[in-house]
Amino acid sequence: THFGFETVSEEEKGGKVYQVFESVAKNYDVMNDMMSLGIHRIWKDLLLWKMHPFPGTQLLDVAGGTDIAGGRERKRERNIDVKGTHRVAATRTTQPGPGTNCNQGDIAFRFLNYVQGQHQIKQKRQLRAQQNLSWEEIAQKYQNEEDSLGGSQVMVCDINKEMLKIGRQKACARGYKTGLAWILGDAEELPFDDDKFDVYTIAFGIRNVTHIDQALQEAHRVLKPGGRFLCLEFSQVNNPLVSRLYDLYSFQVIPVLGEVIAGDWKSYQYLVESIRQFPSQEEFKEMIEDAGFQKVTYENLTSGIVAIHSGFKL
Ligand code: SAM
Repeated sequence: THFGFETVSEEEKGGKVYQVFESVAKNYDVMNDMMSLGIHRIWKDLLLWKMHPFPGTQLLDVAGGTDIAGGRERKRERNIDVKGTHRVAATRTTQPGPGTNCNQGDIAFRFLNYVQGQHQIKQKRQLRAQQNLSWEEIAQKYQNEEDSLGGSQVMVCDINKEMLKIGRQKACARGYKTGLAWILGDAEELPFDDDKFDVYTIAFGIRNVTHIDQALQEAHRVLKPGGRFLCLEFSQVNNPLVSRLYDLYSFQVIPVLGEVIAGDWKSYQYLVESIRQFPSQEEFKEMIEDAGFQKVTYENLTSGIVAIHSGFKL
């Protein structure tokens, strides 16, 4: 198989990928912003918008790593239990979602904000209709509301302890207290029962997996019938001008930034090369279908620099 442009044995690839993410974990967020000029936040917003989760949705975010990071820390009450799971402070009263201030985080983080907003809006409407409360009275009631997620939960699963550790620390600092669990696990052999989740997401993770077909089969296995697979990944640029600029930026600028900011040229060179080795939009679509998913579609974002693939377990 390949590790960037290098040819390596399948056994070697896993270890090398592990080293890359162990090495980049601390600077990953700042590098993510630099490499994508901050656009990865919009791409992640769009993924959430496509998912449009409801209160009660059970999400598995694979290769979630440290993407819970980034942006300003919000002042929130901290209350972390021994398992390291977190309860979202129930102080937010407006609905966060794509384009609002929840854009400084990751899939799991955005998911929690999104469903919290959905849940509160639904409950507030019901309260107002049933009890004839004013909006001020409802807002006050929600200051103390405990179950702000309507039963939703997100499990972040990553193979790298270091990436998980940093993601968890950042979630703690932001006051996420419930609805979030961190699990060490391999996308190729997920530590979950069959038919467990409503949605499976993997953002910028699948190209690092050694056996992509195996990871796709696992995604299919853990989803409930009717569940949805969503993958955000770098893809093939479909505009010649953008393609030339993109090549220049990725091969000439990103490894230099990696060296200057993180003192790690090689890891960033791998990240760039691994993007080029990833199958095209159409090829990846076929792989998803081969894993058993139906109604598989994809949407190119930013001239195909990234694509969101979607499929259903029916
Ligand atoms: N999802 C995050 C984001 O969008 O910014 C992080 C993506 S980061 C580029 C890739 C992540 O994939 C790393 O955290 C790495 O540890 C994880 N990873 C690589 N191989 C994996 C595997 N086989 N199973 C689970 N996670 C894996």
